[in-house]
Amino acid sequence: MRLFSATIATETNTFSPLPTSLAAYQESVFLRPGEHPTDAPRMCTAPLFVARRRAAADGFTLIEGSCFAASPAGTTNRADYEFMRDEILAQLEAALPLDGVLFGLHGAMVAHGYDDVEGDVLERARAIVGPNCVIGVELDPHCHLTVKRVRLADITILYKEFPHTDVVERAEDLLTLVLRAIRKQITPTTSLYDCRQIGSYPTTLPLMRAFVDKAAAMEGKDGVLSVSIGHCFPYADVPELGGRILVITDNDKRQADRLATEIGREFIAMRGRTAPEYQTTEDGINAALAFNGSPVVMADPADNAGGGAPTDNTTILRRLIARNVDGSVLGPIWDPIAIRLCFDAGLGAEFPLRFGGKTGPASGQPIDSMVTVAALQRDCWQSFGPTQVPLGDCAAIRIGGVEVVLISNRTQALGLELFQNLGIEPAERKLVVVKSTNHFMAAFGPIAQKVIYVDSDGPLSRDYRTIPYAKIGRPIWPLDAQTAPGLIV
Ligand SMILES: [Zn+2]
Repeated sequence: MRLFSATIATETNTFSPLPTSLAAYQESVFLRPGEHPTDAPRMCTAPLFVARRRAAADGFTLIEGSCFAASPAGTTNRADYEFMRDEILAQLEAALPLDGVLFGLHGAMVAHGYDDVEGDVLERARAIVGPNCVIGVELDPHCHLTVKRVRLADITILYKEFPHTDVVERAEDLLTLVLRAIRKQITPTTSLYDCRQIGSYPTTLPLMRAFVDKAAAMEGKDGVLSVSIGHCFPYADVPELGGRILVITDNDKRQADRLATEIGREFIAMRGRTAPEYQTTEDGINAALAFNGSPVVMADPADNAGGGAPTDNTTILRRLIARNVDGSVLGPIWDPIAIRLCFDAGLGAEFPLRFGGKTGPASGQPIDSMVTVAALQRDCWQSFGPTQVPLGDCAAIRIGGVEVVLISNRTQALGLELFQNLGIEPAERKLVVVKSTNHFMAAFGPIAQKVIYVDSDGPLSRDYRTIPYAKIGRPIWPLDAQTAPGLIV
């Protein structure tokens, strides 16, 4: 038995002013056969990692293909996408004959000329391996679950958790089902229900937690092989954006249809009740100042690099400076040029600096101010679970009672080191503002006396009605009050 595995993945924010080229993949995951690390999977490479570990015991040969993955940003360069895709397809062809293929994809990748990258990859892969080879795909729930890709794959499985803590477990499920299908022990039969909605669904909140647990409990019983909840990725202008439910049964289409419809209707009934409450910038600052205790941690999800945002929006910071909120600190602002200027000015220098507000209209205007260079540090890092995330050269600047952390490697606020690297102890500040949607909670949740979520005017608005979509299918909630959900596969 012969299986092939490869990865091509990123989460594309088509509204982001930051194009994604080969360089972005080379900075993140750019692994050719023989280069895959053995300690842990990298972004989206769990299917290959799991297959390698199980190949001997499960009695198959694994042919390892290339794995390419980039951090979330704008649309991928067309020639660069085709180069990576064609490398993987050539490896696939060279690996024939194959019984199975495992793709670790993200599911929200867009390249110039390709709104459905995953559908394109699967179409070309299917043409190479033929109809009898079993194709399995693992996706992030923040994906576009298009009809094309669902039809072309035999088995599609999404992570169930947000934050995504079950990437390896779902890859295990995928491999198990692919092997059973190859051995003709099961006949995967898929139904896809389109809920016609855009939303955010952290599984750490009670309603979504119960929904996911219920769906997971259906698996492995009554012929149900897998249940996946597609959250959607809101920041992409692609025709098939939206929340979808995917159910796979063992050769029972009626059962798959019935279950996908039932779960889909329950998902629709949860509209508007699955995300935390967001305040305006002004209300958020007022609430933080009124709170008797510290630190208050305030999140700015609209400028989260993890969703493809530039992370240089200045709106909240401008208000902190205008109100001179003593004991406040904000991070990160991505601005390599300003950092260069701070290093040139030197530690302790007071000088006029223009920073932030550079990348696009949703970054707001830059801030022009006299600043004091409070700290400078080369080659900084922050932690996220077991992972070390590079921040590059960093600077802390002070404007009155407000401190700001500037980073040169664009990423969201994940670990306390973001501040501590520069001698700032977040636990000792009154207000800590972080650019992140929810991942910050791992490190900042335990020190926060209160957490406030603000919906700033950054590019990742929580109000999806303000996103300038042109291509997405309508009607869709919350852009339209009346929608027509239903089975589409
Ligand atoms: Zn995701």
